[in-house]
Amino acid sequence: MKSKKVLAALLAGVVILTTVAGCTSKKENGNSEPTSSSQGKLEGSLITPEPTEFSVFLNFNNMPFDSEWKVWQEVAKKTNISLKGVIAKSNSNEQEAFNNMLASGKLADIIGYVDASEIEKLGRDGGMIALNDLIKQHAPNIQKVLDTDAKFKQSAVSLDGNIYQIPKNQELLTAEFWWVRQDWLNKLNLKAPTTVDELYKVLTAFRNDDPNGNGKKDEIPLFDRAGNKMPDEYLYLWDSSTEFYPRDGKIVFEPMEENFKTGVKNIVKWYKEGLIDPEIFTRGPKSRDILLSGNLGGATHDWTSAGNYNDTLPATIPNFEMKAIAPPADQNGKVIERTTRYPGAGWGISSQCKDPVAAIKFMDYMFSEEGDTLMNWGIEGETYTVNADGTKKYTDTVMKSEQTPIGYLRSQGIQYRIGMAQDSAYEIAFMTPAAKEASELYNANPSWFPKDMPPYLDGALGLKYTPENESEYKKIMSNIRPYVDEKFQTWMLGTANFEAEYDKFIAELKKRGIEKAIEINQEAYDTFLGK
Ligand code: CA
Repeated sequence: MKSKKVLAALLAGVVILTTVAGCTSKKENGNSEPTSSSQGKLEGSLITPEPTEFSVFLNFNNMPFDSEWKVWQEVAKKTNISLKGVIAKSNSNEQEAFNNMLASGKLADIIGYVDASEIEKLGRDGGMIALNDLIKQHAPNIQKVLDTDAKFKQSAVSLDGNIYQIPKNQELLTAEFWWVRQDWLNKLNLKAPTTVDELYKVLTAFRNDDPNGNGKKDEIPLFDRAGNKMPDEYLYLWDSSTEFYPRDGKIVFEPMEENFKTGVKNIVKWYKEGLIDPEIFTRGPKSRDILLSGNLGGATHDWTSAGNYNDTLPATIPNFEMKAIAPPADQNGKVIERTTRYPGAGWGISSQCKDPVAAIKFMDYMFSEEGDTLMNWGIEGETYTVNADGTKKYTDTVMKSEQTPIGYLRSQGIQYRIGMAQDSAYEIAFMTPAAKEASELYNANPSWFPKDMPPYLDGALGLKYTPENESEYKKIMSNIRPYVDEKFQTWMLGTANFEAEYDKFIAELKKRGIEKAIEINQEAYDTFLGK
């Protein structure tokens, strides 16, 4: 009931917004050089001759924007533009605050929100300005990223071709890495596996040869703390999954492909032989802590944080070492890492903003060297210092604060959720040596990452659909996904026979509309490719 009321209020708000937007954009079109922001030459990074204030809707990790933050006061000094948050500091519910703003019909000049598709929706309804021309004319730094970074462009451009929000970009390629117990390899005199067959041999040795040395066959060779969420991740080892995937411009549903048969047959075998965590579906997100601190786990596919255990566990497990290895080559000899990183939600300009030119120049400033440094590192001498070789280092204020370094920076408005480029050096600054090594290994091998890929998040393609296609697609897949997941689990656990059931399984997928779902995905993928 409540959500319906909000929706009604929201729609009423939109009607008003659309009218306002109509007025504003007419004005804009009739006067291509509006307002103070383009008058004369301004010194340094100044954007406007007089101090200008924009209202802003931002609430990152339950921290509403606070204009008292020093780094933002520094930004105001440099640019003459300051921001004033519209969310009360006591209001930490971002979604509620967003809906209230829409319902009120009064939009902040600049809006950032956790869900970029909501900003795009607001844009299509007239509440956000299409930024394409503003960027071309006034934002050379953003334009440069759009021209050179396909992922950034894909995130920025909505399905109607308009840019309603400037994303927060990520420089590092990798999300996850293959990790293996180097001390176990050493103990059993094994080399790091480079292919899926070698991985099988290593896991089998972990299983049979007692690398933890307790005389019991208790090792769990392959585990994953996200196993309950996506057990099909191991299918990547045979270049397959339970999802859609692009192959040479064509979208396929991978369970219908030959690789899937190879992958599932092997997973059934690995599971039966005790190579995969027998509790993979139920052990939950604490799997990694439990299995590593218990000296039981052998290999996993996980974030850089898997390297953090090297700092603590050697105290109780002598020689303990997690080490990142290249993704094992699949049965065709190809090395592929499917999980990569994508730009996140950023911010855009509302149709009620009185000076969109100054606002876009302000957003562009965040991508300039000076703005980028402020947003990633804060204020020199306070949160960072510059080394003799020009690299930067966070001060003890950041590194030794009572919060985590990242937590501290965010509490100061640094590394906040706005349209900016997250500096890879910033992330590396917090990494342990094992994590750094992992990150360097994967980032030095861009050829491992598939080309022409839309976002692939939690193993699913992040394509943008037309509203009609989206509802039909969701309807079909709500019938197919649970069926595929259930079947895959029963095969893996050995409660049903994969080979005996496969043909019936495919027939059932077709009955449930898989061909239409592939067609819808193909259309969305063609749009993504710019066809
Ligand atoms: Ca053992």
